[in-house]
Amino acid sequence: MEDQYGRKIDYMRVSVTDRCNLRCVYCMPPEGVPSISHDQILTFDEITRVCRIGTELGISRIRLTGGEPLVRRNLPGLVGMIRKIPGIKNVSVTTNGVLLSDNINELVSNGLNGVNVSLDTLDSERYRDLTRGGEVDKALGGLEAALAFPRLNVKINCVPLDDTGSEDWIGLASLAKERDVEVRFIEMMPVGRGKKFRGRSGDEVLKVLESSFGTPEKYTGRLGSGPAAYVQFPGFRGRIGFISAVSHRFCGSCNRVRLTSEGMLKPCLQYSGGADLRELLRSGAGDVKIKEKMRETIFRKPAGHHFTEEKNMTDREIACLEEKEMWSIGG
Ligand code: SAM
Ligand code: SF4
Repeated sequence: MEDQYGRKIDYMRVSVTDRCNLRCVYCMPPEGVPSISHDQILTFDEITRVCRIGTELGISRIRLTGGEPLVRRNLPGLVGMIRKIPGIKNVSVTTNGVLLSDNINELVSNGLNGVNVSLDTLDSERYRDLTRGGEVDKALGGLEAALAFPRLNVKINCVPLDDTGSEDWIGLASLAKERDVEVRFIEMMPVGRGKKFRGRSGDEVLKVLESSFGTPEKYTGRLGSGPAAYVQFPGFRGRIGFISAVSHRFCGSCNRVRLTSEGMLKPCLQYSGGADLRELLRSGAGDVKIKEKMRETIFRKPAGHHFTEEKNMTDREIACLEEKEMWSIGG
């Protein structure tokens, strides 16, 4: 369906858990997330029902995220359930990769279309520091396991940080030299803990990569329908992408909504508004009522974020800002 600004919304990011097996410094507190009881989290049946009703409004692509989606028991089972919904064309997962090699066979056999592996550095010490204890070899093992499936759409996502060396970006970009894979650099967004980090812009990263790999060509082929702008460096098999949500706002073409693990349907990352679908699901509401609530929420999606203009916002606008962390909204 189209929202009030005529944007076609066909993509829903679904957070399946707030928990994570890593503690990335810009995302999680060192002690992890406050524990909430299992019954506060949507069940697989409830998630599948929301996705099915979503297809009647034009949602056709689902991304499972979190927290770390693979810490939720039987995630491949959920992939299978969503994949069977008529009208769903694509189901993918965003993961830190640590548990990916254990799950990849079942994920793929249940119909997974794509996986994004988050990796901010290839350096084992820096990875351990950034994730507060993670082992980069596990994430790389997961990545390699995913790449063994030629039909799986595999992407690597890096959030370039202010204090990470440019060698991290060069190392990560090099993964696209021999492999037919996309390595994307995603600007740090001032959401939750991310507010304390400056991050680096796509333009800054591109400059560093150009000094190592030469002048790239713009890649105009179709690679999903997200907001990334891609380039290809000479001699590379894969592509390098930039998702520059802060420096080059792309809200005008935003095509997504988010469902939190507790069942809030959120039309925009920066605002706290949304619809409590769990309340409807658990109070016996029929599909028609849930669909109407979803339609209304999607229709009222805000025009865009104001990440760079927060200091010029009115008190009323500030009162509507999201205070949840990225792991809770579903990054
Ligand atoms: N645990 C999974 C993972 O790391 O891929 C899925 C959830 S995580 C919140 C999804 C992505 O959001 C990761 O790539 C992470 O680097 C990114 N992320 C977290 N906080 C962010 C922020 N403030 N701005 C931009 N990206 C952020
Ligand atoms: Fe966990 Fe992903 Fe957040 Fe890192 S970015 S702490 S892996 S949820």
